[in-house]
Amino acid sequence: MIVVMKMGSTAEQIEEVSTRLTEEGFKIHLSQGVERTIMGAIGDRTRLEALDLEALPWVEKVVPILAPYKLVSREFHPADSIIRIGDQEIGGNRVHVMAGPCAVESRAQILETAHAVREAGATFLRGGAFKPRTSPYSFQGLEEEGLRYLAEAREQTGLLVITEVIDARDVALVAEYADVLQIGARNMQNFILLKEAAKCGKPVLLKRGPSATLEEWMMAAEYIMDGGNYQVMFCERGIRTFESYTRNTLDLSMVPALHALSHLPVIIDPSHGTGKWHLVHPMAKAALAAGADGLIVEVHPHPEKAVSDGKQSLTPERFQVMMADLARLTSALDRELGEVSKCVK
Ligand code: PEP
Ligand code: MN
Repeated sequence: MIVVMKMGSTAEQIEEVSTRLTEEGFKIHLSQGVERTIMGAIGDRTRLEALDLEALPWVEKVVPILAPYKLVSREFHPADSIIRIGDQEIGGNRVHVMAGPCAVESRAQILETAHAVREAGATFLRGGAFKPRTSPYSFQGLEEEGLRYLAEAREQTGLLVITEVIDARDVALVAEYADVLQIGARNMQNFILLKEAAKCGKPVLLKRGPSATLEEWMMAAEYIMDGGNYQVMFCERGIRTFESYTRNTLDLSMVPALHALSHLPVIIDPSHGTGKWHLVHPMAKAALAAGADGLIVEVHPHPEKAVSDGKQSLTPERFQVMMADLARLTSALDRELGEVSKCVK
């Protein structure tokens, strides 16, 4: 249920409603906008009716929510949520591009890529230090050593770091180094990991599971918000269909669908979404045209030598060409590309 307070209601009035609800066993989540406060009340609906909150003069209305997700819904937070990360904001007018290799392979590789993508206009550096691989014989990631290289790259470039966490036991470690935690497609319904990520104090990028419905995906985000972390971004990375030419089918209809149902930002991954480097640039443009708040793109200095996902990785040169195109497109869309403001050492 959502309780909408009247404009100008005082802290005491909000507190009173919250106390009444808590006493009836409801869990309260507050969304304090500039003009009014909205309260998400999670609990037994029948008890809410007995409370008759609408009788209070400072309560505007009580809205029962039929959808299973509440905190991620637009009803809970009518305005777009803006996620503040360092000195960047995701979900506002600026479009952010996160770029880097699939995996952190070496110090030299990540530093070279970081400088190249920053030069081209990325604001976030991506790179997996913990890799979820289909085969146990494939490279599993450099783990903490990889996280250290990412942190060094941030130091040198001013880029913010996004990296994947694949195990609840590593959340605290990854959160120590990363600016954004990525929860991968294979882990979208790893509920223990979602609950742990809710407690990490860092924003979370939640990828869509390869066979997840929109509702299942929103419920996964609900776990993170219900655990107290409201800094969540959705990332569409393609779903499994009968099509075999592309690695996945990039479902761009999720951008407007999520924007209609939720207040959280939406990021598109055209690399995993297509599996082919030559499809990345056109699908990145399509994603921005559909209203995406950002992109996450794989870039490798030598894709032919990459330990993972070389086929879908752009070279720094191709990335630069794409970014120049995206800069033109964003201005046509009345948006801007994010910029790194920190001086480079
Ligand atoms: C990745 O970003 O490298 C990755 C493993 O992505 P996904 O979880 O979408 O497969
Ligand atoms: Mn990858």
